[in-house]
Amino acid sequence: MGPPPRAARPRTDRGGPAGGRDTSGHGDGDRARAAGLAALRDEIVGCRRCPRLVAWREEVASVRRAAFADQEYWGRPVPGFGDAAARVAVVGLAPAAHGGNRTGRVFTGDRSGDWLFAALWRAGLASQPTSVARDDGLVLRGAYVSAAVRCAPPKNAPTPAERDACLPFWRRELALLEDVRVVVALGQFAYQVVAGELGVRPRPRFGHGVEACAPGGRTVLCSYHPSQQNTFTGTLTEPMFDAVFARARVLAGWG
Ligand code: SF4
Repeated sequence: MGPPPRAARPRTDRGGPAGGRDTSGHGDGDRARAAGLAALRDEIVGCRRCPRLVAWREEVASVRRAAFADQEYWGRPVPGFGDAAARVAVVGLAPAAHGGNRTGRVFTGDRSGDWLFAALWRAGLASQPTSVARDDGLVLRGAYVSAAVRCAPPKNAPTPAERDACLPFWRRELALLEDVRVVVALGQFAYQVVAGELGVRPRPRFGHGVEACAPGGRTVLCSYHPSQQNTFTGTLTEPMFDAVFARARVLAGWG
């Protein structure tokens, strides 16, 4: 596939392509946000608040999957990743045991990430359609990706206590990402966390493409999660996923 059409690329209020900016930022405000996000990332990576998840992520990193036996797993919490000037925030459930927990970058190194970053690339929000390692050169443009829970949970199922323990990280991340206008919630778990945090009242029932207005003018945009279960069965197709990010672009003010 070729690069996304330039017309589809988001542009900043300064008139230039957002693709030239990453978390390093250019202006003073960008630099301050990037510094805040970097400090938060360091704090997240060092967190050991949830004993069950700490034990699980480290056991997975020690035992490893045979296909990755020669790789050193990350085995720590996985912070968010993307553009400090993002208008589109994407939130998943939690890192995959052999994906983010292996590579150290959210949605990186697994099939769900293949789907997500390919869709972001088609929407002009990512510099490349693949995401395989922390040093693969991927840059997000106008988008920031994170998870509601930062440690890989057994069976992809964090407990309510673990969810609540981790929520302050996303709250603080979003406070730093002050340009965010739309939050794409991947799956029902993320939707409940995001809608609750943003004070969505009343809360529409989760469904693919459902939009919920949050106080302050932000919109929560629901998507089916790009899990293998959903993509293999056709519950989520590429056109369905692309439609979500096309809508996110409109809600972000990029038309
Ligand atoms: Fe810390 Fe969140 Fe991991 Fe719990 S899930 S240990 S709060 S980073």
